[in-house]
Amino acid sequence: MEGKGRDPALCPSCGARGIPVTERTLRHALKKPLLRELREEAYRFCPGRGCNVVYFSQKEFFGREDVRVRVGTKEAHPSATICYCFDVARGDIEDEVKRKGRSTFSSRIREEVEKGNCACEVRNPSGRCCLRDIMELEKGLTGTDG
Ligand SMILES: [Zn+2]
Repeated sequence: MEGKGRDPALCPSCGARGIPVTERTLRHALKKPLLRELREEAYRFCPGRGCNVVYFSQKEFFGREDVRVRVGTKEAHPSATICYCFDVARGDIEDEVKRKGRSTFSSRIREEVEKGNCACEVRNPSGRCCLRDIMELEKGLTGTDG
């Protein structure tokens, strides 16, 4: 694949704007990280739903099959993990909304985050906190801002 002229911040597959990740995040998420020679360049996480590319740089990319965990934001399946620090799956949030009409996950996770009990940089394959993804999901399920 030639990267000629394209914006290096955009996913080569779906065109979504990538989120910069650290090498630490990448090494932790990849299968067989010791067999990978990472290039000295910037890697980004593709947040595109349904897109098979998980990480990309200007010269290469890693797909879902190269990554140890399932990327919950790319899957609609109820068992897909959304919060990697506290092991919350999409279905857990859907169940609570079904039972109570609302979800308390984002406020409970926020409390834990404030106590310093999370490790998103290494656990979440996107390298960023899951709260934003949780809130988006809750908003989609309840149709409100919280
Ligand atoms: Zn993509």
